[in-house]
Amino acid sequence: MKIAIIGTGIAGLTAGLTLAKKGCQVELFEQSARIGGVTGGMEAEGFEWDYGQLVVEGFAKHEPLGKILDELGVLDKVKLVHDEREYDFPDFKIRVPEEYGGLHWRMDLLKQLFPEEAAGLDAYWKDYVRFTRLVTLGGRMESEGLGTKIAFYLTLLPFLPKMKWSAERLLAHYFKSEKLKCAFMSILADFFTPPSKFPGLGIFSLNGEITFEKRMPEHLAKNAEMTRFYSIIGGLKTLINVMAAEIESAGGKIHTSRVIEQIVVKDGKACGVKDQHGVLHECDQVIASGGAKETFTRLLPANCLPEGYTDKVLTIPLMDSVFMIHLGVDYDPSDVLHTVCTYFYGSYDIEGEVMRARQGLYHEGAAGFVVHFPSLRSPEMAPKGKHALTIYTICPDRLASGDWEADKEKYADKLLAYAEKKMPGLRSHIVTQRILTPVDFRKLTHLDHHAFGGLAPMMNTWKIPHKTPVDGLWFIGAQSESGGGINNVLPSSHKVAKKILCN
Ligand SMILES: Cc1cc2nc3c(=O)[nH]c(=O)nc-3n(C[C@H](O)[C@H](O)[C@H](O)COP(=O)(O)OP(=O)(O)OC[C@H]3O[C@@H](n4cnc5c(N)ncnc54)[C@H](O)[C@@H]3O)c2cc1C
Repeated sequence: MKIAIIGTGIAGLTAGLTLAKKGCQVELFEQSARIGGVTGGMEAEGFEWDYGQLVVEGFAKHEPLGKILDELGVLDKVKLVHDEREYDFPDFKIRVPEEYGGLHWRMDLLKQLFPEEAAGLDAYWKDYVRFTRLVTLGGRMESEGLGTKIAFYLTLLPFLPKMKWSAERLLAHYFKSEKLKCAFMSILADFFTPPSKFPGLGIFSLNGEITFEKRMPEHLAKNAEMTRFYSIIGGLKTLINVMAAEIESAGGKIHTSRVIEQIVVKDGKACGVKDQHGVLHECDQVIASGGAKETFTRLLPANCLPEGYTDKVLTIPLMDSVFMIHLGVDYDPSDVLHTVCTYFYGSYDIEGEVMRARQGLYHEGAAGFVVHFPSLRSPEMAPKGKHALTIYTICPDRLASGDWEADKEKYADKLLAYAEKKMPGLRSHIVTQRILTPVDFRKLTHLDHHAFGGLAPMMNTWKIPHKTPVDGLWFIGAQSESGGGINNVLPSSHKVAKKILCN
């Protein structure tokens, strides 16, 4: 079977590798000069940085994504280290303690900070353990017997009344303090999803306790296993390069600087793709990753979709973008940055910040920023004695007023000024700097509207099915998954490839 794949992000590579390993002839087409999409990374002056997902989850052999990577023969070729994230809010910090404080350390810390919320924190913890059990049992259901299924449904039962709750409602059920609620929902800003629209139970999965303290054991309670965070040594591009090499050694082809401009459909069936040079690449199946709007309204010939389908595609809630500065610094910032990823927040109003960003208003760093410190785990990502840092903020893809390209230096100065309040002296240590605006991300990903993690995980919204109405055409990647991200994109691209094999 011959398969054309549009895009070499984690979605395209996962699908490509799954199919190549099973003997399919795969050809991948990437518009950019380098592979990997937002996971491709960049280098300058001896420094290396990642763009996209900065820490990964569930990559060990026994964990969900690790199982897939192992099956694809690439897991042993990348080196992982356990990792974690820290939080810095205007009035309090959630920092990894010097000495391991046991399973409840974060709840104990929050109880010290918010003593009047102790009962709510206990109730939250009970439900967190139950949710972790639910996910663990859910993952085992296929391979284990009836007992696991019964245990799963019994665990689910108490959650049924909360199934339709938003994050806002769920957190109001446990807590009164807006500041404390923010400690659990602040990450929703990265999803461009207001807490009033995010599915409430998702809060437990966004707050895996082990992601705040890597020394925790995975085993939380009976039948409740947590999934870990990892840094990939050398950055995500290490995984990307290993996957690409495996595809090629299985006979697959990867073309860079090749824009696919058309998906060719004959008698209602996708049978090839045409590149920017007008060259037709015939195939039996086409897998498209990348933009939903771009794929369904631009690449496909008019009239090959059912009436009203493209209108539906245009309604999917996309995230917005990021403003990013990659820095090379000549000092060691680990007195402030104790771990690989630190989230600094300047606001507790997540709902308002998301709504303002969606209206094209940029907070310039005032509402918060994330600092990634890759050379902490991978010293080879910076010249000796120096460090690589990435600072980013969420931002609108298009500004209500102003121009990203014209104003990028000004925005970089403002963001660095906010960062320097947390990292004294930062600016005097910068030896190199690369600014990336939504315009750069649009180019990198070939999108009209850059959506940081793809589809915003909003309740009651429609998602494009992987199997499209055009026979032989499949749609994968961040804009096909609620919440995007490697966690969702990698397993679903693998699943789609397996479905194609069964067809
Ligand atoms: C700064 C940042 C931080 C992130 N952090 C997290 C995180 O913490 N957790 C999380 O879950 N997710 C995170 N993400 C999101 C996650 O990285 C992405 O959702 C995921 O990597 C997307 O993979 P993809 O293959 O779907 O898309 P992409 O990586 O965008 O790949 C699609 C590829 O298709 C190519 N392409 C598109 N159209 C065409 C065409 N017509 N012809 C040829 N090529 C084409 C593009 O050039 C691109 O290379 C982050 C993203 C960013 C940018």
